[in-house]
Amino acid sequence: MKKNHPPFGLGTRRSFFGRFASGAAALSILVRGRAQPAPRKLGIAIAGLGGYATGQLAPALKLTQHVEIRGVVTGSLDKGRQWAREFGFPENYIYSYDKMSRLADNRDIDIVYVVTPNALHLAHASAAAWAGKHVICEKPLALTVSECNAMMAACRANKVKLSVGYRLQFEPHFNELKRLARDGDFGAFKTMSGGLSFRMTRPQWRAERKLAGGGPLMDLGIYAVQAACMAAGANPVAITARELPKRRPEFFRDVEETIEWTMEFANGAKGAFSTSYDQGLDRFRAEGDKGWFELAPAFQYGALKANTSRGPFTPAAVPPSQQAVQIDNFAQCVREGRESPVSGEMGRRDMVILEAIYKSAAERGKRIEIAV
Ligand code: NAD
Repeated sequence: MKKNHPPFGLGTRRSFFGRFASGAAALSILVRGRAQPAPRKLGIAIAGLGGYATGQLAPALKLTQHVEIRGVVTGSLDKGRQWAREFGFPENYIYSYDKMSRLADNRDIDIVYVVTPNALHLAHASAAAWAGKHVICEKPLALTVSECNAMMAACRANKVKLSVGYRLQFEPHFNELKRLARDGDFGAFKTMSGGLSFRMTRPQWRAERKLAGGGPLMDLGIYAVQAACMAAGANPVAITARELPKRRPEFFRDVEETIEWTMEFANGAKGAFSTSYDQGLDRFRAEGDKGWFELAPAFQYGALKANTSRGPFTPAAVPPSQQAVQIDNFAQCVREGRESPVSGEMGRRDMVILEAIYKSAAERGKRIEIAV
């Protein structure tokens, strides 16, 4: 293994707890009466130690079976040190954003999880890919379709896998939605509705075009886009959209505050959705000729609730962390050399849809045909 340079000019002091933890995980286990070595856990580094990384991914990474955290990329050495202490990895596995290329020297890290503001996804995911690391990138994958193309090209060029942080693709209520779409218990879902909104009360990068690429559509509306594609079991063929007048224009200077859109599918199915930073909404409903399925809340981290025309739907088991399941799934894909079911291609598809929504809204509701 090549020598790892301390990226923050740190000394060479190292804690071997991280190594010890992975060594412990590699203890033999009994499989069919014969001792088999447990597969080595893959190492992950989190890039961006903000709200989602701290509040959701850190707890999830204490539950993952196939991955353990072995590093971070951060602009704050203090934060990095806190994570190193909490997770027991050496301090020279703390990288600054401009030294991400040094990840190439670190064989203990297999995956980089990019959790920075949207505008930085392309740069950070590409830096990880060029360092030879597999990438999970948070949603939205990037700011534009052409940025998605560039990120996917960087991953292809370096033969690394790319996945998007779509945690709900692995969630049991959404698995049931996908099953219903496939098996047709309620007929094809022809009418869909819902959306995700919250009232933003303090200025943040999410309301700045430069860092977010847009407003609530990029951040929250994307969940309804995902759910609609799951319920339709297909990609949409046309979009219409309109932006609603801003109630707080001083707050949402260059992004939408509220936007509504429709998605049409080739089989005639149609969905009508909205997203906003001015109100509360968390619901998804899909109706077929023989019944309906509704989620409310639909898009939270836990405790989703489903009702159907046949009565409440309760999954047999709900894992304690959506994110742990999502991250473990990617680790298994990496290990087995498979593409993630939540691939860069899916992130790109959603960006095609979001771009069409913005285009239609800018053209006063013109119907925009898309091919994805
Ligand atoms: P956040 O603002 O809490 O954290 C962002 C982090 O990026 C911070 O640590 C910040 O220091 C760092 N950063 C690095 N360079 C920066 C720069 N130039 N400007 C601002 N911050 C910079 O945001 P968050 O809520 O953690 O969101 C991060 C990403 O995760 C976003 O893409 C968001 O869409 C996504 N996210 C996904 C989910 C989900 O459920 N999948 C939930 C929340 C957020």
